[in-house]
Amino acid sequence: MDRNVEATKPEPATTRNESRETEIGSVFVSNYPPYSFWSEKNLPKVENVLKSPPNIDTDLGLYLHIPFCRKRCKFCYFRVYVDKNSSEIETYLDLLVREVELYSQVEAVKGRSLKFVYFGGGTPSYISSKHLDQLAKRLKSVMSWESAQEVAFECEPGTLTQSKLQTIREIGVTRLSLGVENLNDTILIENGRAHSTKEVYRVIPWIHDLEFNQLNIDLIAGMVGETWESWKDTVKRTIDLNPDSITVYQMELPFNTVYSKEILGNDNAGTRVADWKTKREWHNFAFEQFEAADYQISSAYTMVKKTKPSHFVYRNAVWHSSDLLGTGVASFSHINGVHFQNLTDWKSYINSLDANHLPLGRALPTSKSEKLIREMILQLKLGRIKTTYFLEKFGVNILEEFAAGYSKLQGEGMLTFTEDQVILTRKGLLQVDQLLPEFYDMKYRNSRYT
Ligand code: SF4
Repeated sequence: MDRNVEATKPEPATTRNESRETEIGSVFVSNYPPYSFWSEKNLPKVENVLKSPPNIDTDLGLYLHIPFCRKRCKFCYFRVYVDKNSSEIETYLDLLVREVELYSQVEAVKGRSLKFVYFGGGTPSYISSKHLDQLAKRLKSVMSWESAQEVAFECEPGTLTQSKLQTIREIGVTRLSLGVENLNDTILIENGRAHSTKEVYRVIPWIHDLEFNQLNIDLIAGMVGETWESWKDTVKRTIDLNPDSITVYQMELPFNTVYSKEILGNDNAGTRVADWKTKREWHNFAFEQFEAADYQISSAYTMVKKTKPSHFVYRNAVWHSSDLLGTGVASFSHINGVHFQNLTDWKSYINSLDANHLPLGRALPTSKSEKLIREMILQLKLGRIKTTYFLEKFGVNILEEFAAGYSKLQGEGMLTFTEDQVILTRKGLLQVDQLLPEFYDMKYRNSRYT
């Protein structure tokens, strides 16, 4: 699951209350302007941008959405299916290749090489070795990823075998991201995860033996049933697994999760998820423990080994407005300043590609000011941004442009700034998603995000 391609609803920035409950519709800012402003009527703009020559200074990446999972986690808000059979999966993968093929023929993409490839979901590791091998061969024949700096692949521990991992390595995956989330079986079961800790421990030696460039482990702070004691144990045992990077997300409750529906039907259920203050304390504790174990901060969510400070090419590219072809049902793309999303239901996606049409659903072309705000807020998630980058790219001094927002957040102890940098404090870093609406254009504030 890739949180960079989905989102929820921002709260008004003026209502920060550090100890409030985790509310339904909580925040993860993955894009700007908010998705609720994207519309079908803007689709002709996508056709225009795809017919136009690319900006040759812009990198290009490919996102492949594999929307299948063994079971739906109770906190999941992604477009996933748990009931598709092998022949439906085959149909989907065939059409995914066709979608990439259609893109490879448009003017904006023709002849360009891929800087990164990202297999997200859902669970890419759910598909069989045979399907995976065929998919990779067919994709590579349409758009090669030989020279890509990163091929990232999300895995659910219980779907991995030694031979499937071998296949994943052979198709060129460099960054393997393992959705561990927690190392306590009672918590995993309560939250509806399909895997157990035993499966994590089974696959880790295989992954290390295969020497992927980067092993990332995902954790979630604040799963239902979490306590200080269980979280401390998960953090310690994660360090023992010796990953190259560790990503910690705070549990959210967007509208469409099983938990949100339960909570909406029962007033007391909300208290089952830790409040924001507690989740930040857990997140901070994890970061402190990882720092002590020789990891350093790479973003508000991720820490990397100091001795091997691996880059996350996909994340950095998305946050610096690279072109991104998002393929698969409900995926998000960005080409030369135009955002667009694929059709979000299975049937429409399949029918559109069957008819050899790109399965486009809604879009939004962005203005120069929106592009600037988008990059500034997304890069703020890295913890520090440089004024010179924005001066060179947009001709704008961000310290002047966003002076009011920076100074308000400085007053709240969220950030500091120097002549050439804006730097989040640890307090700011741990709640960065809730600070970002401060910089939205007025017309996008207090609006629904998705
Ligand atoms: S593994 Fe769980 S959280 Fe991840 S995409 Fe599947 S259902 Fe959602």
